[in-house]
Amino acid sequence: MIKAEHLRYVYNPGMPGETVALKDVSFEIEEGAFVGVIGPTGCGKSTLITHFNGINKPTSGKLYIDGEDLWEDPHKIRETRFKVGLVFQYPEYQLFEETVAKDIAYGPTNMGLDKEEIERRVHRASAFCGLDEALLARSPFELSGGQKRRAAIAGVIAMEPKVLVLDEPAAGLDPEGREQILSEVKRWHDETGSTVILVSHSMEDIANYADRVLVLKDGEIAMYDTTERVFDHAQELLDMGLSVPQITKVFLRLRAMGLEITDDVYTIPYAVKTVKKFLAAKGGGGDA
Ligand code: ADP
Ligand code: MG
Repeated sequence: MIKAEHLRYVYNPGMPGETVALKDVSFEIEEGAFVGVIGPTGCGKSTLITHFNGINKPTSGKLYIDGEDLWEDPHKIRETRFKVGLVFQYPEYQLFEETVAKDIAYGPTNMGLDKEEIERRVHRASAFCGLDEALLARSPFELSGGQKRRAAIAGVIAMEPKVLVLDEPAAGLDPEGREQILSEVKRWHDETGSTVILVSHSMEDIANYADRVLVLKDGEIAMYDTTERVFDHAQELLDMGLSVPQITKVFLRLRAMGLEITDDVYTIPYAVKTVKKFLAAKGGGGDA
């Protein structure tokens, strides 16, 4: 669905503020995947994902979306913007219409869809994002923080993009709000089969939702593998200044204490299974 070949991006080339944000990045993301993107602040996550819908143009290298070279024909960029929906950090600052319904309808309207189809999409997207129908007629400014965030995400989902890219969609929300937004995104992914790319600094979130993880460091790919295999390198992630899920830390600690237990554990259900297996192998499960 997305293929990057030797992607390089330089801010302010040839000027005093020149910054090489992406060095030589190559990877492929398959259709229908749920990919987490992690890495320390400033490593190039936002720069990378804003390439996916043509906001940034590679300084060099190629980017293919759905098999097509994105920059081969600049007239096609507009089409790509509809194919790849990008939810920016703090997207609620971009709400501006008189009503929530109009805000959600903004993208589909730009796509030139007819009124009925727009209506259908507004309702479907708001249902996906857990927005009550009654809120649609309100001004976006009357909504709570979490509701505003969900309205902004609904506006992107309403374009029914083949790829949904979210930059820290849960930032600044309380744990309940985080969980709600991410499980809505997950449901969108599962029910539509669309590709989802989630940038997050929460390892908990990545562990719970992503199938694959792309780790960026200083504008380069440090790792790109299944979630399980990436968290199997927990110590390397910690050395990079990243965190790992709390549960992974527990298992790292158990190993450091001399227990012969695997430390590639990154979700609670898998932790339970691992402990049961460990106890069974020890033959001491009965008194645990
Ligand atoms: P991340 O999202 O991982 O925190 P960014 O993609 O925002 O990283 O930034 C990557 C690098 O590019 C950083 O060194 C950052 O300072 C620099 N950068 C980001 N945006 C700009 C910009 N508009 N102008 C100049 N440098 C920028
Ligand atoms: Mg960023």
